[in-house]
Amino acid sequence: MSTAALDCEVLVVGAGPAGSAVAAALAAHGRDVLLLEARAHPRPKACAEYASPRIVEELRRLGLADDAWRADALPLSGMRVIRGDDAVDVRYRDAAGPRSAWGLDRLVFDAALAAYAVASGARLWEHASFGEPLWTDGRVSGAVVSTPNGPATVTCRWLIGADGARSRVANRLGVERPVVVPRRLGMVAHYQGDAELADHGEMHVGPGWYVGLAPLAGGRLNVGMALPMDGRMGRTALERFQAGIDGIPAVAARLAGRRRLTPIRGASPIGHRVARAAGPGWMLVGDAAGFIDPFTGEGIYRALRSARAAAESLAGNDDGAEKRYLAARRRSFAAKDALTWLVQGMLAAPPIMGYALRRLASRPETAERLGSALGDCRPASDALSPLFLAQVLRP
Ligand SMILES: Cc1cc2nc3c(=O)[nH]c(=O)nc-3n(C[C@H](O)[C@H](O)[C@H](O)COP(=O)(O)OP(=O)(O)OC[C@H]3O[C@@H](n4cnc5c(N)ncnc54)[C@H](O)[C@@H]3O)c2cc1C
Repeated sequence: MSTAALDCEVLVVGAGPAGSAVAAALAAHGRDVLLLEARAHPRPKACAEYASPRIVEELRRLGLADDAWRADALPLSGMRVIRGDDAVDVRYRDAAGPRSAWGLDRLVFDAALAAYAVASGARLWEHASFGEPLWTDGRVSGAVVSTPNGPATVTCRWLIGADGARSRVANRLGVERPVVVPRRLGMVAHYQGDAELADHGEMHVGPGWYVGLAPLAGGRLNVGMALPMDGRMGRTALERFQAGIDGIPAVAARLAGRRRLTPIRGASPIGHRVARAAGPGWMLVGDAAGFIDPFTGEGIYRALRSARAAAESLAGNDDGAEKRYLAARRRSFAAKDALTWLVQGMLAAPPIMGYALRRLASRPETAERLGSALGDCRPASDALSPLFLAQVLRP
């Protein structure tokens, strides 16, 4: 079989939110962008579909009109986190006032964003999978791609891996690292909705796992869970999913009599870790650059924010772009990562989680401040100060 050859300035692998956003931003600035997608839109993605408030700003900066995505999105006041008899409402507020989270149908949202990348001037190549990077003098200079018509060689100045939490780009660049903790299996399905959950979601923390209920437009409910990977929850996807529901009585009660509308989709294990997010001629964005756990629900925002950082670092001179990108990532994500790990630590220690939830339930202002930091509406560092942590934990 002969190998086709193709040229572009920036080769973006993966047309999820990160890949489509970076492709749209770069194409709008006149870069010649080829966007590869292994599948074809509309394609499902295992996701709890609860997006944090600041996706709005990211999408506006990208130039995507609000009504291009809001028609199928449901504004939500926030998320109620529940563990047994303890419950706390996570709400968001920034300098302008209260902010909404969003119930996003990823099938529709991701397809709209990929279409926007094309409208912005990127070429989208579906059913085309990244295979291996090509190197010239220690710098990535292209990739071997598999297409329905056979293998193709694409030369490029920049390779951007936006191929999600199982990133082959990260793997083939040699920067993927094993995920040690938390080791969780993610599963999601849509159910018939619940009128009591029309304007907020619920996150139920169980004994070693959690289940999120996020309303979607059209009277549907996303049921998403992160389960332990030790096999104790059954063998088949259905057994595990049902065990996750039945193991938390409040979830079982919410879903009693409601029909499941989609197949169960899984992601196993949930996390992804890399040693570096950029190097000579390459960058990783979105989940491909690392992903901890969906409990705090900001993966979509992070995909868009890291896409912006990558596009901005490539806006001017190419020299040093990867260093600018790494610096921008540190500024944008270091404090948030620390906060996310703090929440993960609490999840791993249920008595501490229960204690913190009880304290937060009686301190709504503190809960709102924490929620706003988790929802990127105020700096994450605000919620990491010793004074703030003392406010949460003091008896
Ligand atoms: C169970 C679960 C629940 C979650 N819940 C939430 C939530 O409620 N809120 C939230 O904000 N985030 C959530 N997340 C995280 C969120 O889904 C991700 O952070 C987000 O999808 C990252 O976007 P991305 O563009 O980086 O990757 P993806 O959305 O994974 O897109 C990657 C794309 O790359 C394509 N691809 C893969 N390999 C190749 C290849 N070799 N060649 C070409 N294309 C390729 C894939 O087909 C895919 O389209 C959840 C994740 C999981 C696993």
